[in-house]
Amino acid sequence: MSGRSVDLFEESLGWFPGGVNSPVRAFRAVGGTPRFVNRGKGSRIWDEDGREYVDYLASWGPLILGHAHPDVVKAVCDAAADGTSFGAPTERESRLARWVVEAFPSIELLRMVNSGTEAGMSVLRAARGFTGRDVIVKFEGCYHGHSDGLLVKAGSGALTFGVPDSAGVPAAYAGLTLTLPFNDASAVEASFAERGGEIAAVIVEPIAANCGVIPPAPGFLECLRRETEAAGALLIFDEVITGFRVAWGGAQALYGIRPDLTCLGKILGGGLPVGAYGGRRDVMECVAPLGPVYQAGTLAGNPIAMAAGVATLEALRVPGVYEALEEMSARLEGELREAAAEAGVPVTMNRVGSLFCLFFTEGPVEDFASARQTDAGRYARHFHAMLDEGVNLAPSPFEAGFVSLAHTGEDVAVTGAAARRACRAV
Ligand SMILES: *Cc1c(COP(=O)(O)O)cnc(C)c1O
Repeated sequence: MSGRSVDLFEESLGWFPGGVNSPVRAFRAVGGTPRFVNRGKGSRIWDEDGREYVDYLASWGPLILGHAHPDVVKAVCDAAADGTSFGAPTERESRLARWVVEAFPSIELLRMVNSGTEAGMSVLRAARGFTGRDVIVKFEGCYHGHSDGLLVKAGSGALTFGVPDSAGVPAAYAGLTLTLPFNDASAVEASFAERGGEIAAVIVEPIAANCGVIPPAPGFLECLRRETEAAGALLIFDEVITGFRVAWGGAQALYGIRPDLTCLGKILGGGLPVGAYGGRRDVMECVAPLGPVYQAGTLAGNPIAMAAGVATLEALRVPGVYEALEEMSARLEGELREAAAEAGVPVTMNRVGSLFCLFFTEGPVEDFASARQTDAGRYARHFHAMLDEGVNLAPSPFEAGFVSLAHTGEDVAVTGAAARRACRAV
């Protein structure tokens, strides 16, 4: 391959580790050179060499309205013209908070931050501050941002204290994170039976969407709710991906479970850097200046970011929006399944609304171990074949795809035709 992307990547390798500012962008999981994006509009993006793609990456989830949605662009421009940052309260923060609280009745009080990582890091501090306990339970394959205590994957068993999954995370710190298999209710019960009194909180992606897409097994989220409540621990839903994605009120609305605390991000910022955490009033009243849990941000509640979030959420409040997303996503699922079946390629497609993942395995995929059965080589070949056909998927077998409101029947048809050729090639 040659062209501007190759030249630009060559240069960026001299500036950034691996040429990128977030690791998966470097294409290490699929090989080859990342395409540098020049611009986006609706469901499409264009690279620096002028090639056009139907985009299902959607900036990793935020762009549920598609690229450069006119309402969002206008809101951003209007806000910028009024001044980019004040470090003082503004009405735009409350306007965004109003929609969050309307969508998520479990959120009584919230704090805006700048990323999902910050939301995850801060929510744990609040949970520990409130309960006076140190241990956090998380699940294998779930991602909650890159703060130290959350960069812990599986230890060597359900009841083993975690091993750092990243260099630079002190073992003593990682040791406060207990990692259990996703969708394994009996492992949760056993952990609570043994050390329930030490557990500050359970944090979970209610739909695991950072190891592909894995919906919760029936009864799993109910088990988390029951066990945390009985032990005086808090239940935290990390809805950074699922919030406003699988329903207006996120996964908690879809499955009817009320967590104590929730993390939001991605769609909340409409493509700008925003995160938030919030929930029970008594817990959130521990956060400064009301309480002893310190957390702050120079650019938190940034007016431009708030404006993009407000414009995005207002477009999502329109009746019929999630039904339309479901309909288009179901059509896409049908196309991708048919393409694989025609080529005799075994796949498992997990999908919740507009959140989907294609695993190259017979399946079923119900936890991290079964997700890892996906054929990574086949995924890489499929990814590149699709990219060459003009369809942009995630450059890793363990990431989700996203359908936006900008995707049309024509986009889905183009994708289906591309997938038929790609599946024959893998
Ligand atoms: C993306 C993501 C995060 C981290 O958000 P950033 O804005 O990338 O820091 C946290 N939790 C989940 C579930 C995510 O998908």
